[in-house]
Amino acid sequence: MEYKHFSHPHTLNLFKVQEGQQCRCHGCQSLCYDSVYACRSCHFFLHDHCGNANRYLNHPSHPLHPLVLFPAPTYCSGSFLCNACGSPGSAFSYGCALCEVDLHLHCAFLPPKVTHKAHQHDLILSFPAPGGHKESVDEYCKICTKKMDSKLWSYCCAKSDDECDFRVHTFCATTEVKPGLYQDLESEPPPAPAPATNSGGNQSQGESSSCGQLTPDEAAAAELYSLQLQMQMNQKLAEMMASFNLSQFV
Ligand SMILES: [Zn+2]
Ligand SMILES: [Zn+2]
Ligand SMILES: [Zn+2]
Ligand SMILES: [Zn+2]
Ligand SMILES: [Zn+2]
Ligand SMILES: [Zn+2]
Repeated sequence: MEYKHFSHPHTLNLFKVQEGQQCRCHGCQSLCYDSVYACRSCHFFLHDHCGNANRYLNHPSHPLHPLVLFPAPTYCSGSFLCNACGSPGSAFSYGCALCEVDLHLHCAFLPPKVTHKAHQHDLILSFPAPGGHKESVDEYCKICTKKMDSKLWSYCCAKSDDECDFRVHTFCATTEVKPGLYQDLESEPPPAPAPATNSGGNQSQGESSSCGQLTPDEAAAAELYSLQLQMQMNQKLAEMMASFNLSQFV
């Protein structure tokens, strides 16, 4: 079965991943199992669901504009920082170039409601209120006990806040997202409490070592990204000043 995807110049074929083979999906960067679309000469793999992701997405986290599927980061650093989970990404993203919103594919598809054995009620996906994170009360994830970033998405108890006050990371409430990629860039890791044991029996060979830590590549990418942001801001400021000065002379 042949397949053509706009992110790759060659035709893709259905490919069966053999045990022990490391094939990373070009769309979501996670490992592939079973059947995927592949261009074997380029070592290009794509999950069925990643390849079929819509080119445009209306997402409740960003009602102003439709999000566009980008096959690669549009930043010169080659990576983006996800507005949902705070981790860098270098594969597909849904983004709004106007508002500099970038989402991992899997974050864009986080379900609006989940259940988790750690809590008796439904958990709903909640987005930070725009500009509403000025007063920073430190909040800690009720599952992994690490600090929450109020600028990122979270899952919280669907019941009223004062009743349960149960809020967790998106990747702690769902199994689809790799927790190892997460790092709060602003704060050093808290004195490690006993980590919540992963019930799922995740056999992640080699990946456990990087748990909670950025690889040097990711750290460099994140640093580049913040530098880039700063440069963009400076540039915008310069443009504003320039237009301001001009209008005074007219
Ligand atoms: Zn994928
Ligand atoms: Zn190819
Ligand atoms: Zn994300
Ligand atoms: Zn926008
Ligand atoms: Zn957590
Ligand atoms: Zn509750």
